[in-house]
Amino acid sequence: MYKRGSSSLFILGMAAFLLFSCHSNTSNQESQNQNTVFKPANIAPFDADSAYAFVQKQVDFGPRIPNTEAHAQCAAWLIAKMKSYCDSVTIQRTKVSTQGNTYDCINIIGHFNPLNNPRILVLAHWDTRPFADAVPATAHEHFDGADDGGSGVADILEIARQLHTKKTTIGVDLLLTDVEDAGVNGNDNSWGLGTQYWSKQAKASGYHAQYGILLDMVGGKGAHFYREGFTRQFAGPQSLMVWNMGNSIGYSDYFRYGDLGGVEITDDHTFVNEIAGIPTMDIIALQGNGDFMPWHHTINDNMKIIDKHTLKAVGQTVLQVLYDNPSY
Ligand SMILES: [Zn+2]
Repeated sequence: MYKRGSSSLFILGMAAFLLFSCHSNTSNQESQNQNTVFKPANIAPFDADSAYAFVQKQVDFGPRIPNTEAHAQCAAWLIAKMKSYCDSVTIQRTKVSTQGNTYDCINIIGHFNPLNNPRILVLAHWDTRPFADAVPATAHEHFDGADDGGSGVADILEIARQLHTKKTTIGVDLLLTDVEDAGVNGNDNSWGLGTQYWSKQAKASGYHAQYGILLDMVGGKGAHFYREGFTRQFAGPQSLMVWNMGNSIGYSDYFRYGDLGGVEITDDHTFVNEIAGIPTMDIIALQGNGDFMPWHHTINDNMKIIDKHTLKAVGQTVLQVLYDNPSY
């Protein structure tokens, strides 16, 4: 994924905020909408130790770079895990190209209650970016992708493990999407290649979900989740409901209401929104100025920055939403 949107817009927004908002702030304004916050009767189980072990397992394969042995081995493991938890599993295999490279692309989709409506889609990418190019000196090195890819997949696997034990009433589709992270900044269509393929297939087949939740970099220390521009544009009420849920079950430090002022993240949700037409939010760790976390696309994205508390804050919140299916 990459960040677009104007930092000058952000600065302008901050200036307006400071000038005109002395007696309130964006956090309070938005939290006023919380008078309909859903209070769960029972807190869903989510095992952070299990999720952490799922991150470690992926990292142990090596970077899951498409066309490598680690990628093939991790695919086989993910397919086996999903088949062990889900009611049914669909595998999409295709070839995709970007930047002059062609990649084997494997999307893995687990279904719960495949005949039920409404349905909710939860997705994360499982591939690792082929280069640690956020820092020029390491642009030809690989990185573990513990947070970028690994954490979202781990939370989805733990959600699947829990859904297997205790069913929801609604239908749930868990999409592990491939070749998200081989793109180049400034070229939207070079990102999310597996999701672009899935979205075209979904549209052609008439598939519809009520909304989608993308998990990307949901396991890092000190993570905060702000609703970026596409999330607000395409899935405003749905994402506010999810943020409210996170707040109502004790994760207000993670799920933040502040506006990042024009920052938009091109990520898998962009294509689910634009191609499949499913309102989809991105739960993605961002700093207060809209930047990615410091380890993003560097060799420091490894197990050292993974925090079980962050994995749990997100996984527990999403699982609660799936069980309770609150209105929005
Ligand atoms: Zn990435």
